[in-house]
Amino acid sequence: MNIQNYINGQFHNPSSNNWIDNYNPSNGEVYGRIPNSSKDDVENAYIAAKSAFPSWSQTTLEERSRILIKISELLEANSQRFAEAESKDNGKPLSLAKAIDIPRAASNFRFFGNAITQFASESHESIGQDAINYTLKQAIGVVACISPWNLPLYLFTWKIAPAIAAGNCVVAKPSEITPVTAYLLGEICNEAGLPKGVLNIVHGLGTTTGQAIIEHPDIKAISFTGGTATGAHIAKIAAPMFKKLSLELGGKNPNIIFADCDYNDMLETTVRSSFANQGQICLCGSRIFVEASIYETFKTDFIKKVKQLKVGHPSKTSTNIGALVSKPHLEKVMQYINIAKEDNGTILYGGNKVIVKGYENGYYLEPTVIEVSTDECKVNQEEIFGPVVTIMPFNSEDDVLQMANKVKYGLSATLWTNNLKRTMRMSNQLQSGIVWVNTWMLRDLRTPFGGIKNSGIGREGGFEALRFFTEAKNVCIKY
Ligand code: NAD
Repeated sequence: MNIQNYINGQFHNPSSNNWIDNYNPSNGEVYGRIPNSSKDDVENAYIAAKSAFPSWSQTTLEERSRILIKISELLEANSQRFAEAESKDNGKPLSLAKAIDIPRAASNFRFFGNAITQFASESHESIGQDAINYTLKQAIGVVACISPWNLPLYLFTWKIAPAIAAGNCVVAKPSEITPVTAYLLGEICNEAGLPKGVLNIVHGLGTTTGQAIIEHPDIKAISFTGGTATGAHIAKIAAPMFKKLSLELGGKNPNIIFADCDYNDMLETTVRSSFANQGQICLCGSRIFVEASIYETFKTDFIKKVKQLKVGHPSKTSTNIGALVSKPHLEKVMQYINIAKEDNGTILYGGNKVIVKGYENGYYLEPTVIEVSTDECKVNQEEIFGPVVTIMPFNSEDDVLQMANKVKYGLSATLWTNNLKRTMRMSNQLQSGIVWVNTWMLRDLRTPFGGIKNSGIGREGGFEALRFFTEAKNVCIKY
């Protein structure tokens, strides 16, 4: 499958005729090519977006809403095709792409199609000064959306939908590792009647295409999700040009389990929060801390459940864990398993590549559970982003809080307890943008989403996203 850029409503080859291979993680084979777009392609995308802006930013909210909801409906109508493409491109189980990725991409458009009709200007009456202020929320212009490979269409649309709902025109780049569903989205946008140039999708490497986007002097805002090092690089380039920045970066999230929790619910959810999407979700709880009194029981029960997870070809209905996204990523994750061994970690389960019959060159890895004796070891401090979790016991609330917070990241935390006062105390003190109590990844799209510390700046979700994609302009009138 050859992928093309989507610029001004049409599909184009890269101007430099420079291509990158696209791999199928389930068998390690190249199954297509994607453009490695140059500065010129990015410029063309920018020009298309700029030309579309005057009209799109003046399109009524009802009309924008109607088009976004139409895109959502078309994604739903094509969900099987999209789920198959996502699973093939990323290695995730087809069942997961069908249940989570594609429905959520459709929800993103529906949600922001509705949200924009409720996003209002504000007014402030300056009593005693005979003046009234009104605050407009104006579209910014041409904005950039750059997304990673782990939840390809889900995260791509989480940025694009609020950007266009707010009246902006977009130059977007999906990850070069998982470009296919972003490519297919172009067709859907045309079918839904999105005016040409409102959304432009350019494909390519971060260092060429991505770099050209972030360096573009007239792209005034960047919404980025990806690694912390890339985020820091983008901030460095963008800051002197005073671009608006939203950065959703890495995580090393604690999963804190107290003895008074609902044990079975916790166990079931903890298996999911550890290994869903091969552990390649920024919200996965990769550091499991268990209260000492239930530590041994948890260890036995958890391993028993993890052993039941079936690693296999993504398209099989029996598969719980598919392939990791790429060979370099598999190698990186395996390197961390070796580091854990050198650091005196005990591999309680997993740690090895899996050879799936018929797909011997696929990037499969066992779900891996490592017992660590200190939270300061490398595997407890650095983001691995694969099917690898560490477990260790704790003795007191203070101890676990200190360990949970002693990392450079602060994206999410999960807390399992039925003690209300402890819930309130700990939720207050955990250093993260999101705290889940007695659940994991329960999402309400109206809530603020994002991290603190090295997990990023800014918040996505609900009106936060619409605020990011608009400039507030205050008008003060004296009467
Ligand atoms: P990455 O940073 O390597 O790439 C992300 C995107 O940035 C890709 O599209 C890539 O091409 C682009 N990019 C790379 N260099 C660039 C540059 N110089 N200029 C512009 N764009 C550039 O991240 P990844 O490996 O694709 O994704 C994994 C990371 O994403 C993990 O760290 C994970 O935690 C993080 N993530 C965070 C969230 C969140 O919401 N906080 C969600 C998902 C993933």
